Amino acid sequence: MRALVAAIVLLFCCGPLPAAEDFGRLLDRADAIRSGDRARFEAALAALREHPGPASPAQRERLDFLEAFAEARQGDFPAAIVRLRALSASSGDPAMRFRAGAFLVNTLAGTREFAEGLRVLDATLALADQVDDPEVRNGGLLAGAVLYNQVGQYVLGRELAHRVAASSREPRTLCVARTVGLEAELELSEVPLRSLPFEETIGLCRAQGELIVAGFASGYLARRYAAEGDPARAADVLRGVLDSVEATGYPRLVGEIHGLLASYSLATGDRAAAERHARRAVEQGAGISYAQPVVDAHHTLHELALARGDIGAALGHYRRYAQADKAFLDDVKARELAFQMVRHETLQKNQTIELLNQRNDVLELEQRLARQAAANSRLALVLLLVLLASIGFWAYKIKRLQMAFRRLAQVDGLTGIANRHHFTGQAAELLARAAREGMPATLLMFDLDLFKAINDRHGHAAGDWALRQVARSCARDLREGDLFGRLGGEEFAVLLPGLDAAAALAMAERLRAGIEEIDTTPAGARFPITASFGLAEGRGASADLDALLVRADRALYRAKRAGRNRVEVERSPTPDAGPGDIPGDSSLAVS
Ligand code: GH3
Ligand code: MG
Ligand code: MG
Repeated sequence: MRALVAAIVLLFCCGPLPAAEDFGRLLDRADAIRSGDRARFEAALAALREHPGPASPAQRERLDFLEAFAEARQGDFPAAIVRLRALSASSGDPAMRFRAGAFLVNTLAGTREFAEGLRVLDATLALADQVDDPEVRNGGLLAGAVLYNQVGQYVLGRELAHRVAASSREPRTLCVARTVGLEAELELSEVPLRSLPFEETIGLCRAQGELIVAGFASGYLARRYAAEGDPARAADVLRGVLDSVEATGYPRLVGEIHGLLASYSLATGDRAAAERHARRAVEQGAGISYAQPVVDAHHTLHELALARGDIGAALGHYRRYAQADKAFLDDVKARELAFQMVRHETLQKNQTIELLNQRNDVLELEQRLARQAAANSRLALVLLLVLLASIGFWAYKIKRLQMAFRRLAQVDGLTGIANRHHFTGQAAELLARAAREGMPATLLMFDLDLFKAINDRHGHAAGDWALRQVARSCARDLREGDLFGRLGGEEFAVLLPGLDAAAALAMAERLRAGIEEIDTTPAGARFPITASFGLAEGRGASADLDALLVRADRALYRAKRAGRNRVEVERSPTPDAGPGDIPGDSSLAVS
């Protein structure tokens, strides 16, 4: 079968690719005749090399492919391999990569670089689905089938051969596919050999003029009969095809058929024929010691010499037999090894890819985790900010509420000035400070005159309005730092820090006049508003609020009695408060 490879190299390296222009037509012609008439092919190739017309990159690649084909046929395998490697690796067209890959597989099988051939085959078969032309695809699959058989992987070889046989309409392709399939079946011995189409395949190949392939198929048929225990019939088959086999002049086929004939002749007791065929096999098989029939031929010659009693010759044949057998077994082992090596490489590559994928998965997972963690911390930060913002917001709300409550507690609702409670608290503090600083402070008290009558005549609302206007009028005249409060009803008080009785009197007079001038028209009626004032100065020890309130109230009372709308000053109880401070007697009435 090994010999079949070289024949297939010439037959199958694929069908023509689509054509274009003149250069393209010439390319098609060269492609079509490449495995036929060698001289015409070489001429077409030379014409293509010198063609003046423009060629597309795809056409240059096809020419390159034909150059590789010519190189392989001339036996310059290294040059062909370099060219095919470049094409199969870098062509932009998957069909061309496939075609070049398939031919490279064939060539590497021819140079017995099985491991490399298997590697290229893996890469090439992966492209099969992208190849539209069924004959190009079948050529590649067939190259794979042959290579698998060569490395003893008959199950794989049979599978590819069956795929081609099932899909090809090309009789030459069918002839080779079936022959390769028969070889695999013969080696596997899984189905009854009787059920296999030996004769049909031989007939098909003959009809196509494929005599080399038909010769190998005949060898397989003979092996079938021998396996069934009928060496005579096996020998008959081979004798029947011997002339056409010899006519091919193909040493591997001739060696194989004569080797088989030698064995079967010996088995049927025809020693003369056995000797003749064995010698012819050995002669043809010189340099191809890894062919089984050639090994068997040496053995046959040894047996024949023994039978003749020619011990010397027997020994010589035996030595050559042993050498050939060892070379053959080494070769089988080497081919097996090549397959196992590439298989392990592939497994390892797949494992590495798997490992890388897993590592990628882990990295991706880590990145997702990192992203999640970042998102989580962003979320935590946002939550913290929201928390802080709401704490701030509530603190602010509470503060405002506190301030509002405090204001409610300190401020008189009607007039907006200090209420009695707040006034007395603040006044006590201001008095204490004035005393500390040795400054005077004067307390004014005033009560609206005949206010009941205002309420009675103009209504409570007008009374309220009047109270607000009085507060506003006084507040306008007071200094910053003066304390103004409503003690209750229509009674007010003012603490004037830093003012003695005389200065306070002027202030009281201003306030009184301001009240008197209030225009009541906006209240809906014209009526007079006046107030009676009493004032008392506090200084040093006399600056006690309660005492001051009592004294100022006394003065106020005097003002009421004296006719209202006036200011009365309560004399200071201290000895240093002389009449020089305030003109008049114990009180002063200002109308
Ligand atoms: P006098 O000049 O002697 O002080 O006479 P008067 O009418 O002002 O005195 P009196 O104490 O008899 O009357 C005070 C009135 O003030 C009684 C009350 O109805 C009125 N009053 C007290 N508080 C308010 C208030 O908030 N609004 C109104 N509209 N009236 C008030
Ligand atoms: Mg009153
Ligand atoms: Mg009053």
